[in-house]
Amino acid sequence: MPAPEPPPLRDPDALKLRGPLLLPGSDGYEESRTLWNAMIDRRPAAVARCLGAADAIAAVRFARERDLLLCMKGGGHNIAGVAVADGALMLDMSLMRGVLVDPRARVARAQAGCLLGDVDRETQVFGLAAVLGFVSATGIAGLTLGGGFGYLTRRFGWTTDNVVGMDLVTAEGRLVRASEDENADLFWGLRGGGGNFGVVTAIDYALHDVGPEVVGGLVAWPAHDAPKVLDLYRTMAEAAPPELTLVALMRMAPPAPWLPKEIHGKPIVALLACHTGDPAAGEKAVAPIKAFGKPVGDILARRPYAQLQTLLDATQPKGRRYYWKSEYLPRVEPALCAKFTEHATRIASPHSAVILFQIGGALNRFPAEHSPVGNRDARYVLNVAGAWDDAGDDARNIEWARAAWSDMRPFGTGGTYLNFLTEDEGHGRTEAALGRNLHRLAAVKAKWDPDNVFRTNKNIRPA
Ligand SMILES: Cc1cc2nc3c(=O)[nH]c(=O)nc-3n(C[C@H](O)[C@H](O)[C@H](O)COP(=O)(O)OP(=O)(O)OC[C@H]3O[C@@H](n4cnc5c(N)ncnc54)[C@H](O)[C@@H]3O)c2cc1C
Repeated sequence: MPAPEPPPLRDPDALKLRGPLLLPGSDGYEESRTLWNAMIDRRPAAVARCLGAADAIAAVRFARERDLLLCMKGGGHNIAGVAVADGALMLDMSLMRGVLVDPRARVARAQAGCLLGDVDRETQVFGLAAVLGFVSATGIAGLTLGGGFGYLTRRFGWTTDNVVGMDLVTAEGRLVRASEDENADLFWGLRGGGGNFGVVTAIDYALHDVGPEVVGGLVAWPAHDAPKVLDLYRTMAEAAPPELTLVALMRMAPPAPWLPKEIHGKPIVALLACHTGDPAAGEKAVAPIKAFGKPVGDILARRPYAQLQTLLDATQPKGRRYYWKSEYLPRVEPALCAKFTEHATRIASPHSAVILFQIGGALNRFPAEHSPVGNRDARYVLNVAGAWDDAGDDARNIEWARAAWSDMRPFGTGGTYLNFLTEDEGHGRTEAALGRNLHRLAAVKAKWDPDNVFRTNKNIRPA
């Protein structure tokens, strides 16, 4: 059933914006409310497409004066669909995509509507990169506020460990700066507490020397090789230098040009590798993968870093139905690999996958309370990633993901990633994601948003 029409917005003309205000029926309204995950179908009362901090201030004040629910959308990629709420005033930040790189300070200032690819494109002009994620169409705001990990995490920590400041519109509609020197409590909360504290308008990232050329890509084998390939994964990952990140996955082979036609739709096991240091050292580091067994496809090679950052994009299109279950792991044990393989053989859709991301390294060296993203004992992320097309297949796919996750969960740290939580995962899972830091977050929330204005998220209740 389609979402019901929201009640009309009262006196919309009172909301003065530089960007467009979209009401139900306006051009662009449907596109703006539609998220990456087609399971989410909600209708805000209006969409304020902000062009700058002044628009965000005006929208927050307008909503508060009328007691309207507020929600914020960056890249619209959050699987739980927290970016959009029925009857709310939605701040759509996606027109704010400016990036300014200061190569001397080695900092990029990115507006909150940027996608990861926007930041990579501009920073790579200077041979620099921010710590971001694996799919270029993901929004920087949601990713960063919830933690963030990618190919550079093993060297430099969570994305949020590499943020030096943010600009934010508070619940009172004031623009403030958050950094180590200004509003340090707010700065701490923003680095993992999600969108709980206000509307972020800009994020300043510390940059690192990366690329322009790195060694990265995928090698795939038939699924019956999984026990040996996962064994290779385990041993290589444990010994890998921080420059090397290894990801293992199992799924049906997609119809990608690098895989032969006869394997399309058949089960495969693949290793995704990326070495972000010297390319010659990278080639040496990934040689055991390239020499292993009889692969059905191999695109692990030197390539531009910016291209590597888009390599998985086609596997994650907007508009499919998605349901994930996820857990952090301290290590990859042989018994876990056996379960991983077993649940891969039961995959209910050609688009679903089971994935192990390696993240251990720099993030483990910060103290637990360094930022609320916490989980400093996490070395791998297990993601059971269901993806399918038809609503009629919802139950079957969700059931598969839940069963695989509950069977593998005992291998976890007990922690989970805030940004991978789905709509049906309640406060207990937010507690699992934020751990001991939740208590301190509730105090920061009480100071900066005592009325819980920003509650369309994985919510932190004010202390
Ligand atoms: C295909 C895919 C790949 C992914 N890969 C990775 C990965 O490699 N690494 C990783 O760490 N994560 C990854 N993620 C998870 C990702 O970090 C989250 O989905 C994140 O929420 C996406 O951010 P967004 O801005 O697109 O989200 P949106 O859906 O736009 O927003 C999500 C929430 O973020 C908050 N928010 C957004 N904008 C603002 C703002 N301006 N101010 C305040 N709060 C705001 C709000 O609470 C909002 O509800 C991936 C997700 C997908 C779908």
